[in-house]
Amino acid sequence: MNGMKAAMRADVAVLGAGMIGICVALHLQKRGRAVVLVDRRGAAEETSFGNAGLIQREGVYPYGFPHDFGALLRYALNRTIDAHYHPSALPALAPFLWQYWKHSRPARHAEVARRYARLIEHCLAEHASLAAESAAADRLRSRGWIKVFRTARERDRRYAEAERWHREFGVNYRMLDASALQEAEPHVAPVLAGALHWTDPASVDDPQGLALAYLRRFEALGGRFVQGNAASLEADGTGWRLQTVEGKVAVGQAVIALGPWSDVMTRALGYDLPLAVKRGYHMHYRAAGVARLNHPLLDTERGYFLAPMQRGIRLTTGAEFARRDAIKTPVQLGRAEPVARDLFPLGERLDAEPWMGARPCTPDMLPIIGRAPRHSRLWFAFGHAHHGFTLGPVTGRLLAEMITGETPFVDPAPYAAERFRR
Ligand SMILES: Cc1cc2nc3c(=O)[nH]c(=O)nc-3n(C[C@H](O)[C@H](O)[C@H](O)COP(=O)(O)OP(=O)(O)OC[C@H]3O[C@@H](n4cnc5c(N)ncnc54)[C@H](O)[C@@H]3O)c2cc1C
Repeated sequence: MNGMKAAMRADVAVLGAGMIGICVALHLQKRGRAVVLVDRRGAAEETSFGNAGLIQREGVYPYGFPHDFGALLRYALNRTIDAHYHPSALPALAPFLWQYWKHSRPARHAEVARRYARLIEHCLAEHASLAAESAAADRLRSRGWIKVFRTARERDRRYAEAERWHREFGVNYRMLDASALQEAEPHVAPVLAGALHWTDPASVDDPQGLALAYLRRFEALGGRFVQGNAASLEADGTGWRLQTVEGKVAVGQAVIALGPWSDVMTRALGYDLPLAVKRGYHMHYRAAGVARLNHPLLDTERGYFLAPMQRGIRLTTGAEFARRDAIKTPVQLGRAEPVARDLFPLGERLDAEPWMGARPCTPDMLPIIGRAPRHSRLWFAFGHAHHGFTLGPVTGRLLAEMITGETPFVDPAPYAAERFRR
């Protein structure tokens, strides 16, 4: 006996236990692969913890960079609620932003949406199926979500857009005039010009709770969740080896699902992928008195979101362009709070400090799902930006089918990393 522990063996290591990694791991384990899921923290404690909890069936157009002059001017002044930037980060972000801007041009954005919709159209069915087998079906609330409008102009513009999306992508909506909105949301101040109710989407009141339900299902099927640092991944013969708190793990294949940290690993492995983050914040509030928010709600023209959660009303903010690891600057939250208080009777703050997360973004707004171009036993699943909670089960199934050699249920070509090869 030399005291050396033999390496734990598995077929696949999935690196990163956010919504994406958990769903990839679960779908592989369901297909008979022995999977080790690795995270340096607990599961779903980062971006998949603090989001708005929407499963956005209507989200066929990934959020683009604004192209109208008025919006650009407002953003340039850096005073809006929906977007904020760190001037010091702009030089490093400029190449990303330039590409993002180009992919957001109306004709190109429409092309991107057609590719993106192929994933989005499955989000409800794939969540429903994982939730059912994870004994979590009752966590999915199917009451849609509401965009409210301050002006008739914005309302009519969004109604026209919704009608186009309905015709092209089959997403459903209702138009709510001011009195129908009051009926749906009696505690929202009667200052609005109406609302758009997306009726298909689902939502949850505890995003991490749903991810943990999927994790428990993965473990019940024999999957292992261990703590470890993805950076210890090393090629080893025909497979990979990495260090975890439970010792060395040896696997045939590895999946990078590190959300906003994916670029740390891809760079170390020699890939130059154009990844960036859009940071976002949240804070919970008690609802004042008997006030109740029945639906998740976007104050469209002001640019913040209110979601009824188990913990309280969660106010989430839009995009902050900054370095991922720069200190928190929750100025959007500070700007949104008084506006939100005027719209809905929020009581006191419930968190000691604002939560911050980072949406993992690509400039063409499509995630990267598939084989790593220069490593035969390495796979990518990241870059889901505003919709990683929505798309976890879709990406999980798609990548698991690719890894196990099944016919993928969606054509994976548009999401291949090769599209960024220079
Ligand atoms: C304010 C806000 C609101 C949002 N609202 C929504 C919404 O309503 N609907 C929606 O669909 N999406 C929403 N999103 C986006 C969504 O949250 C993300 O797209 C999604 O959570 C990304 O999941 P992920 O698994 O890729 O990343 P993450 O959840 O961040 O998981 C990555 C994991 O990698 C681990 N990790 C990192 N480095 C290492 C390492 N070296 N070793 C080991 N582990 C490591 C981390 O600990 C983490 O657990 C929102 C995001 C924000 C910020």
